[in-house]
Amino acid sequence: MKKGTGIKQFVIARRCFQVFFLLLFVSILTPAGERLADILPARFFLRSSPLMVIRISIGIKAIASGAGFAFIILLLTMVFGRFFCGWVCPMGTVIDCAGALKKKRKVFTDRVTGWISSVKFYILGLLILLAAFSVQTRGAGDPMVIMARVISLYIIPAVSMLSGAAQNYFTQSWLPLLLFVLICCASAVIPRSWCRVLCPLGALYALMSRFALLERVATDCSDCKVCPETCRMGAIKDEGNYVKSECVLCMDCVYSCPRHDVKFAWHHFWGNDK
Ligand code: SF4
Ligand code: SF4
Repeated sequence: MKKGTGIKQFVIARRCFQVFFLLLFVSILTPAGERLADILPARFFLRSSPLMVIRISIGIKAIASGAGFAFIILLLTMVFGRFFCGWVCPMGTVIDCAGALKKKRKVFTDRVTGWISSVKFYILGLLILLAAFSVQTRGAGDPMVIMARVISLYIIPAVSMLSGAAQNYFTQSWLPLLLFVLICCASAVIPRSWCRVLCPLGALYALMSRFALLERVATDCSDCKVCPETCRMGAIKDEGNYVKSECVLCMDCVYSCPRHDVKFAWHHFWGNDK
């Protein structure tokens, strides 16, 4: 992958992908989207969540239907890293918008970042344990479920109401909406805070991306500390090392490097050229 240039091709491409998948996610949840049901069922996105598939499979003690797509995403994560988080996840896209104005993204020291980043793995473990004991959590914590609930329970009914169609969305529980607003507010202060600290689906992708073949390489780093300030995931440490499992391939560090020294390259099992 080419080093940073004046034109942020990969950042532009990422934003296009994010907008496309967000619109797709919203559209299949609308009444009009029901017409797409034969080719793209509404559960497509939910079953693309390996977390959802694992929880259902543990609950029913069999492979959940539609698990194949989630399995493919996990395999792709082992090749490309957390591409889903940076390029596809509708929650990640909304969170990026919420944190877009935050220019100074390094909020915590490397040590604190390491501690808080581990919280999501405990949440993932807890959810899997609860599924093993058949405790009904109704998709709690899964960003795809949170987004689906917010869009179908509040946003679509609110738009329908404003356009004159009668909807009783005020009778819905406000809890999912409150959680969503809190996630967005937190991300406006600490970019991607939900993804970094709490998201159990992100934790699953982080575990798989430890083996990713695509990785960040800085061949001639001058230690200027620009990229640790740039990284929305706190994935780059002060000394320039990066935590592969936290990287969502946003590509910001490629273009922020004043020496155009950062690139993404395939892992060389015999050692990357330095
Ligand atoms: S960490 Fe979770 S919410 Fe964030 S982008 Fe990844 S899957 Fe989506
Ligand atoms: S390491 Fe680079 S590409 Fe990865 S999340 Fe941080 S800024 Fe984005």
